[in-house]
Amino acid sequence: MKSPPKPRAGYELLRTYSPGAEVECRIDLSDNTNRWGIPPAAAAALRNLDPAALTRYPSSYGDALKGAIATHLGIDVSNIVTGAGSDGVLEPAIRAFAQADGQMVLADPTFVMAAPFGRMNGLAPAGVPLLPSYDIDARAMVEAAGCVTYLCAPNNPTGTSITRDALDEVIAGAPGLVIIDEAYADFSASDAIELACTSDRVLVLRTLSKAFGLAGLRVGYGVGAPALVQAVEKARGPYTVNAVAERAAVAALRDDAAWVAARIGDAVAAREWLATELGALGLDPAPSEANFVFVPVADAAQVAARMADAGVRVRAFDRLPAFTPALERSRGSALRITVAPAAELEPAVAALRRALGGGDA
Ligand code: PMP
Repeated sequence: MKSPPKPRAGYELLRTYSPGAEVECRIDLSDNTNRWGIPPAAAAALRNLDPAALTRYPSSYGDALKGAIATHLGIDVSNIVTGAGSDGVLEPAIRAFAQADGQMVLADPTFVMAAPFGRMNGLAPAGVPLLPSYDIDARAMVEAAGCVTYLCAPNNPTGTSITRDALDEVIAGAPGLVIIDEAYADFSASDAIELACTSDRVLVLRTLSKAFGLAGLRVGYGVGAPALVQAVEKARGPYTVNAVAERAAVAALRDDAAWVAARIGDAVAAREWLATELGALGLDPAPSEANFVFVPVADAAQVAARMADAGVRVRAFDRLPAFTPALERSRGSALRITVAPAAELEPAVAALRRALGGGDA
């Protein structure tokens, strides 16, 4: 009898994805989606969809979607690769540029799926702690010399961005592909699109899952030099953006700009309100440029569990490197809270206040 087949090396270290305690809560501020709803033109495109169109495959690489993205960003279609969410671009990008026994260099902490996507493709993740300013440690990231360097601006979970000097240092010095994940760029001044179109080593990732409110559709894209984007498309394969998602995404990009801009304004205002409230609770939130706020809190998992009992779900992190005084005090434990309309955010802050033991003042 033959023994069962073995997954490739490193798979024993991978876990299937679980975004923290999977509790059902009345108010869910755990996943950084758009709590203000779905853009109207995208919703209308979904309502008006003729199912007969679905007997055919979509275009191989999302041609209509590429066209809408090109117009939205003012760039050429040859600079664009689409995917099933930005995850659906990130993973094939790593696959296309992974070298045997290579390393994937990334900040610690950063987007939780980045390191597993590296491991899936045979790369050992090399985490470089953020600096006390929350900026990346560009010199250490360059010295780590990965065949893939993953940057996230604004960063998940901290919400903080990367200074232009640090970005330039990594792009000039890192030996391989530099990925700049801009899933949250819509809420910030971060914008590396022009950089990606003029460099031959930078892939910028964007998504319709956050500001555009379409996480369930799974639509994302990458922007880079044509040769780089073509390599990612080879790894990605055909048909990964389904026809329903493509129609709604094209409608959103074409006709929902005003709605999206207004919701970004709402999210930024809610973020500033939340940061002030957290400060008033004696906490020290990171300076967020995203649609969520990261705040060091001792015993964050317990605090999150108490909030969940009160019907509010947030994301807890522990065992983080203590790169700021607030994280030293919390022993590397923190909460990440997605912003939302006041009807959700105000009860969430009240639940946090009670969970921290501060009463219901
Ligand atoms: N990058 C970052 C930084 C994220 O936070 C997320 C979602 N949490 C993603 C990528 C993936 O988003 P999607 O695949 O929905 O585009």
